[in-house]
Amino acid sequence: MKYVYFFGAGKAGGTGEMKDLLGGKGAGLAEMTRIGLPVPAGFTITTEACDYYFKHGRKYPKELRKEVAGNLAHLEKLTGRKLGDARDPLLVSVRSGSARSMPGMMETILNLGLNERSVEGLAKATRNERFAYDAYRRFVQMYSSVVIGLPKEELEAKLRAMKTKLRVKDDTEVSAQGWRGLVTEYKSYFTEKTGKDFPEDPVEQLWGAIGAVFESWMGEKAVTYRRVEKITGLLGTAVNVVQMVFGNTGDDSGTGVCFTRDPSTGEKTFFGDFLLNAQGEDVVAGIRTPMHLGELETRMPKVYAQLEKVRRTLEKHYTDMQDMEFTVEHGTLYMLQTRTGKRSPGAAFRMAVDMANEKLIGVEEAIERIKPEDIERLFYPVLDPKLPRKELSVRKFAEGINAVPGAAVGKAVFTAEEAEQWAERGEKVILVRRETSPEDVGGMYVAQGILTATGGNTSHAAVVARGWGKCCIVGAEKIDIDVNAKKMSSNGHVVREGEWITLDGGDGSVYSGEIDLARPEPPKAYETLMKWTDQVRKLRVRTNADTPHDARVARGMGAEGIGLCRTEHMFFKDFEHPEKSAERQQAIQEMILADSPEARRKALAKLLPFQRRDFIGIFEAMDGLPVTIRLIDPPLHEFVPHDPAKQAELASKIGISPEAVERRVEQLREANPMLGHRGCRLAITYPEILEMQVRAVIEAAIDCQKRGVKVLPEIMHPLTLDKKELKILETETRQVADAIIAESKVKLEYLVGTMIELPRAALLADQIAEVAEFFSFGTNDLTQTTMGLSRDDAGRFLPDYVDERRAGIFKADPFQTLDREGVGLLVEWAIERGRKTRPNLKIGICGEHGGDGESVKFCHQVGMNYVSASPFRVPIARLAAAQAVIEEKRNGKGRKKSR
Ligand code: PEP
Ligand code: MG
Repeated sequence: MKYVYFFGAGKAGGTGEMKDLLGGKGAGLAEMTRIGLPVPAGFTITTEACDYYFKHGRKYPKELRKEVAGNLAHLEKLTGRKLGDARDPLLVSVRSGSARSMPGMMETILNLGLNERSVEGLAKATRNERFAYDAYRRFVQMYSSVVIGLPKEELEAKLRAMKTKLRVKDDTEVSAQGWRGLVTEYKSYFTEKTGKDFPEDPVEQLWGAIGAVFESWMGEKAVTYRRVEKITGLLGTAVNVVQMVFGNTGDDSGTGVCFTRDPSTGEKTFFGDFLLNAQGEDVVAGIRTPMHLGELETRMPKVYAQLEKVRRTLEKHYTDMQDMEFTVEHGTLYMLQTRTGKRSPGAAFRMAVDMANEKLIGVEEAIERIKPEDIERLFYPVLDPKLPRKELSVRKFAEGINAVPGAAVGKAVFTAEEAEQWAERGEKVILVRRETSPEDVGGMYVAQGILTATGGNTSHAAVVARGWGKCCIVGAEKIDIDVNAKKMSSNGHVVREGEWITLDGGDGSVYSGEIDLARPEPPKAYETLMKWTDQVRKLRVRTNADTPHDARVARGMGAEGIGLCRTEHMFFKDFEHPEKSAERQQAIQEMILADSPEARRKALAKLLPFQRRDFIGIFEAMDGLPVTIRLIDPPLHEFVPHDPAKQAELASKIGISPEAVERRVEQLREANPMLGHRGCRLAITYPEILEMQVRAVIEAAIDCQKRGVKVLPEIMHPLTLDKKELKILETETRQVADAIIAESKVKLEYLVGTMIELPRAALLADQIAEVAEFFSFGTNDLTQTTMGLSRDDAGRFLPDYVDERRAGIFKADPFQTLDREGVGLLVEWAIERGRKTRPNLKIGICGEHGGDGESVKFCHQVGMNYVSASPFRVPIARLAAAQAVIEEKRNGKGRKKSR
């Protein structure tokens, strides 16, 4: 196996295509060399070597030493200089670079090859002793902190102390003598801390640096970055050993970073910064204020013209915006890096659309350029990007699972009731709970954001908050909540009720205090690009919405129907008339506490008008688009109060004894409610609930039809596990519905179908399809029941399962991205079997996976008709559905036919 690739003098062993093997930087250097751009020579150690290193207990592959030595000799020959030479020595930089850019997350060492001998050689060759010793101290400083791990702050403190002693302010004022003294000081500090001398042998230095770059792949920063950015499946980092060129050799030198287009707005202008007489890290470190590229044009017109040409060449060559690093050494331009530039979400849309209009890329390519996160970040508020990172880290209070992106600021409250009371007074609140349940929806609704100590991506809090596009962090394990004392603590810090906290749902961080937020504006290009996705995709995209308001929001986002309306949320909150919520709550609780079908019917009769009105609102909002309404699903105990005081209050309201309430609540207690009396089992036991809900749906539909609002209701039974079970429910549904329709004399079509949420239902899909007119995969429960992992509790250990430094068993949280291997198999099986029985079976998905890009692609591949996503994720689903078509075309694979 070949582990090292050389580049230099117009030739390169690698190419720009070999990003996986050479990393982005290595591939870019090879490609720029090949197309004749001015690139210093060097070689790249592959990511496979890094992979080997970690898989073999941090040992290098046997042949690596020989290959590195051979390539180093080649580099020395090509440059006519030797590493560590006493006359005009070769110096190299050693830089990381993985296949996906991870800016600033891994390590770099510059000026490697300097020692007591070669520093003199450098001073002579450049006739600049000050420059040589400045380079030397930078190297010793970097090597000590990056390779050996000595504290950066201590080294910086020594530098500051030296400047104070010499009474100078800027680094540029320090003399050769000053730098020489600092090197001596660094070295004795090195010996004091490590018990060894600073390595003089450049080859030893080189291997130290190579090891440090490999190690930085598994450094905390890098691992966290990959987790947050969902970067998986990479081998590791490559290591680039490149001949040093110097931007700090005088006023005809300098260094800069530039972008072929503006990365924040997407505008087609040459954008970048330049520092005269400086080395690369000075730009990144932001120590000195750089000048704009325009000034470079005035100061070095020739270099600027050359750079402008490189800009055009590279953008055309890569057909994407490039982020480039360059250095000018005595008026000669060197390109040190090119890579696809990171961009703001708004800029991503603008560039994709502009480039398609310029014919630099095709429309399909433009669609592929957009990432689901670009859409998310376009709509959700974010922490003010101007806030210094340091300040953020000081304020960090805790960390959890980033269930819904966006950011939120508010005063901490610890019960849903308090959230509502505070909000009524005009306060902004963050609702903090151990976990949430349907009882909490009122408080969740008025909160700016939601934070729970337990739960995962499909826990109640996550699912409900996602539906509203509300920032939500779940599973913040380390938080200890004391509801009675109205406070929470984490890492020894305490936040009390009423104190400000800030949530960043982007990465799951919780901060104490009030942090400013910024709200991005969707650019014009967003509309254009989304129209393009609609022309390409085959999957329909619906939404999960429980209220007319959410339905309207979702339509604005491009939803083509409702795939899941969870009716139970309506039992607790009147979203259009909040003051009427108590009436509903009481009626549902009365229904649950009833001890006879008659008493239950009486209570249900009170609920009927509420549900009917809600459905009318939803049908009107969807105006002729299909609406899937699911009958009651959660176990009944979730609807009744558990603490004695509230039980007594309820008892007096509905006129029964507190003991009776307590007894009934006790009866409803289940050891394992998720596998208990829930889903359509409730309608089997209490057919009168089904009757009321079907009546509400059909009467609402008839009311709309009469007024000319077209309606396509689809009545859905949850958690079915048997054909006979579904047959009973279907018969009852049709009896109720048909009688109302017949009486009304209005023509109304409706469908009766089921969710597929249990492995048994998936396995027996052929039988179930004899009754069901449609399937909707409830992949939250299907994942839970297939994997045997509780959606409410798995948040405790799932992070370990996806953390590559810990167990690393799953690539992604299966409650977020569908587990194709296991759950996916059941989905495929059920679709195939279901359609064998009923070829025109309508099939969709309404679990949270319907709004996850990767999972949507799977849904396309297995031939579903539609996916259903929470309103704010509808555009993500539209995008992913289009990308799935494009990927399929490219891979030449056909998808399973949907009807
Ligand atoms: C599901 O289980 O995937 C689903 C959509 O239903 P719920 O999340 O309401 O259980
Ligand atoms: Mg479910």
